[in-house]
Amino acid sequence: MELTVLGCSGSYGAPAGGACSGYLVRTTEALVWLDCGNGTLANLQRHVTLGGSRRRDQGDTPCPPGVDDITAVVVTHWHPDHCVDLYGLHVLLKYGLERQGLTVYGPEGLERRLGTLVDGDWGGVFTWAAVGDGDAVTVEDCGLRFSRTAHPPPTLAVECSAGGKRLVYTADTGPDWSPEAFGPGADLILSEATFQRGNENSGLHLSARQAGEAARAAGARRLMLTHLWPGLDPTASVVEGSEAFGREVLLAAPHQRTRI
Ligand SMILES: [Zn+2]
Ligand SMILES: [Zn+2]
Repeated sequence: MELTVLGCSGSYGAPAGGACSGYLVRTTEALVWLDCGNGTLANLQRHVTLGGSRRRDQGDTPCPPGVDDITAVVVTHWHPDHCVDLYGLHVLLKYGLERQGLTVYGPEGLERRLGTLVDGDWGGVFTWAAVGDGDAVTVEDCGLRFSRTAHPPPTLAVECSAGGKRLVYTADTGPDWSPEAFGPGADLILSEATFQRGNENSGLHLSARQAGEAARAAGARRLMLTHLWPGLDPTASVVEGSEAFGREVLLAAPHQRTRI
């Protein structure tokens, strides 16, 4: 399994191409786009061509995966920094690639909430699949499980498992949820760490310290911090998170690829 960061800026875009939340999870058979925050569709196109499988049909091999090779999209919640590029993806699929039926997994009500972007008509481009706390689905060889986090709109953390490896993405959460919800020993926890120790009273997000402590309690093998508030010193988040985790943590960066 491979994780590619498309964007990792917390809540609003950071300078110099700092897109909001989005990740690509690639397994042997599946290509899952996990959150589509603002800026991630642009960054996606550095890793995925437009219309890859169509080119492959024409015998143009080998070629990198295409947008139409994306097996499924997962949206953790309807805060725009996690989903608004679904609009651009819809335009690309509808008018550019003339594709329909890409499955979008997300919390109940997502289609209706985002429908205002398209006057309620997505043109059949997406097949909306509502998932909730405790649900599990399979996308090719990739198992997905969901857990409701501590964040105001219905928000789902996601576990991706394939080839005996497990990735847990916390989505947005406050400290009243823990990645232990998926059981111990994840190979990588990709945890939001919006804040730092000095401002961890919101209850809506984690500090780097809280992310480190939660991942340690969940017995994670590795921890990657993401969704940092723009303007905070990321080095300080890494130091704080590493102290709490007990080992050096990774820091998400746009276009970074990590083998799991
Ligand atoms: Zn967010
Ligand atoms: Zn949020």
